[in-house]
Amino acid sequence: MNRRPSPLENEQCRSCSSFSDYIKSTRKKKDENGNTVTGSQSAVAGDGGTTGHQGDSGGRRTDCPLDKDELGRSAWGLIHTMAATYPQTPSQTQKCEMRTFFNVFAKFYPCPHCSEDLQEELKIEPPKVENPEQLSQWLCRLHNKVNVKLGKEIFDCSKVNERWRDGWKDGSCD
Ligand SMILES: Cc1cc2nc3c(=O)[nH]c(=O)nc-3n(C[C@H](O)[C@H](O)[C@H](O)COP(=O)(O)OP(=O)(O)OC[C@H]3O[C@@H](n4cnc5c(N)ncnc54)[C@H](O)[C@@H]3O)c2cc1C
Repeated sequence: MNRRPSPLENEQCRSCSSFSDYIKSTRKKKDENGNTVTGSQSAVAGDGGTTGHQGDSGGRRTDCPLDKDELGRSAWGLIHTMAATYPQTPSQTQKCEMRTFFNVFAKFYPCPHCSEDLQEELKIEPPKVENPEQLSQWLCRLHNKVNVKLGKEIFDCSKVNERWRDGWKDGSCD
């Protein structure tokens, strides 16, 4: 049986663009019978739309491959949480493994231009792996460099533990 191509192999790489870009680029797709379908219609057509996963706004189902922004949010969540929970006194092996993790993560991050950029940033400022405080602050600076490139707001790195470890001081996460 033929394997369906992954979205990462398509001409339009989904994890290299946001959902809105993707929808625009796929808007006038033809279905198997030659009928024109919209991007969101084609997104639910995989199983005939019978499984009812169309949870979020605009009727887009929620179990689709990730686009660049969804991937980014999930990835940042993982690595900020890893930094927040890194051992207080890591062994030499753990320090080495954490450095290796970020180098491999950067190489395989599934958005080619993000990956290239990230590998360059790691050369400029390699991971600070002495303890969770240093690692979290290093990662916060790295994330802020991406924020600047994308025209997003700078995050206040003094709040990184509230955001990723303890919850906000006003108790709104409790
Ligand atoms: C390693 C990496 C590299 C990326 N490179 C690119 C790229 O080159 N081009 C591109 O278009 N997209 C890139 N992305 C995706 C991009 O960074 C965002 O994830 C995406 O645009 C969605 O942004 P967002 O506004 O939802 O919030 P995100 O930037 O995903 O942030 C998620 C949450 O993290 C918190 N946060 C924000 N800044 C910081 C910080 N400095 N420290 C701690 N917490 C913070 C905020 O609460 C925010 O809501 C990259 C993602 C990753 C993980």
